[in-house]
Amino acid sequence: MTRGGEKNKKMSDNHAIHRNLTESVRKAKNAKIASTLKATKERRANSVCRVFDLKISKSHISREQKEALKRVFLEAKWLRNDALANGIFDYEIGKTADVLVGDHHETRELNHLGSQMKQSVVKQLKQDVYDLSKAKKKGCHVGQLKFKRFVNSIELKQYGTTYRFKNEKMTRIKIQRIPGTFRVSGASQIPSDAEIANARLVRRPDGYHVLVTVFLSRDSEYVTRQDEFEPGTVVGVDMGLKTSLTLSDGSLVNVHVGVSDRVRRLQRKLARQVKGSNGYERTRARLRREYGRASRVKDDVAAKVTRDLLRNEIVYFQDENLSAWKSRSGFVRGGRKVQDSILGRVKARLERSSRAVELPSSVPTTQFCPVCGSRTRHGVSERTFVCSACGFSVDRDVNAACNMVRFGQDYRSFSPVGRRFVLVEGVASADGAVLGAACASHGYIDAICKQSSLKQEAPRL
Ligand SMILES: [Zn+2]
Repeated sequence: MTRGGEKNKKMSDNHAIHRNLTESVRKAKNAKIASTLKATKERRANSVCRVFDLKISKSHISREQKEALKRVFLEAKWLRNDALANGIFDYEIGKTADVLVGDHHETRELNHLGSQMKQSVVKQLKQDVYDLSKAKKKGCHVGQLKFKRFVNSIELKQYGTTYRFKNEKMTRIKIQRIPGTFRVSGASQIPSDAEIANARLVRRPDGYHVLVTVFLSRDSEYVTRQDEFEPGTVVGVDMGLKTSLTLSDGSLVNVHVGVSDRVRRLQRKLARQVKGSNGYERTRARLRREYGRASRVKDDVAAKVTRDLLRNEIVYFQDENLSAWKSRSGFVRGGRKVQDSILGRVKARLERSSRAVELPSSVPTTQFCPVCGSRTRHGVSERTFVCSACGFSVDRDVNAACNMVRFGQDYRSFSPVGRRFVLVEGVASADGAVLGAACASHGYIDAICKQSSLKQEAPRL
């Protein structure tokens, strides 16, 4: 485990002044820092960045630590709001922050935030200003930065100073200014040749997490490993609301992770409670936890579906504007269905893969006739493709998925005629029964998974 070499120049400058170093010593020190920084940058230009999510074990936190963690986030909020009120760009970070309590200001001490953590809170605020300005330049409507009720994420820069692992197995972590060490889970995923850099202390409904950034060399085993796939196979994937995924071989994958009964119960309870009361806040916290759980189930299912799709050598899919589906009225009203689906997650995962080909949304996959090549416009409600020139008809989604493979191969100038592509032709002229048999015959994703309640385990795909 090598230590991240990033140093903060400005801070060291301040230190130098405090220690009354002579001018030459100070200069030498700065030069050293600059050269280390340069070396780090060069090294990282050739490495790959990954983030690992470590969870702080709730059952091993002392009361003192619990309080300290709460204070860290509270003080970060005070500091952020104080900086926002007093001019972000010439704000001087001190040991106290002014806090608005009712109609008057009070001065509160910042005892739990380390100096680097303070800097990163203010740095984040500046970054927010830059981001807003960037969005404005792009033509988005932007408002002003507002005061926050919560700060839920604090950067821990410079490994070794703001945080460090206490043991070789990386099961315990020490965070600056917080008493004791925390037991964390998940660090075993970090490859042993990784260079640990900064991290982020994050408060989520299910507890506290440390998101550790690491750098890996491009030829390290972790980066170069390949998932298993069957050479020469291709598949087209059509995303939809009625059926989540329709594959070019005719198989269907339906996954909806709906809200649990518990969420409904909590929502009813919340509606009856007095807004802002302790009970109301408690119910909200429970709801947030419940939504977090749903989101993790979705992550899990999406990972499994994507992995199964990528058992093909090449996956073709189209860049569809999923968020626009939410407001679509007419045939399928999207809102809840998009909310419950895992399409966005699958798409994001496919986009990250080097073996998935994304077709632009302008490619007419639903309109193209594979037999005569003419185009027939179809409304959203027409579920069957019927060619106006030659009369060929096939399921609309299957046609789209197959066309993705056809167009995709042109698009990529890659033409393996795999098993699945041959199957496509069989499906194209087949009725439902043959389609089902085709799915079962080669045991791809054969299950139509449905999950309506979170009480169940995530479906095995
Ligand atoms: Zn035709």
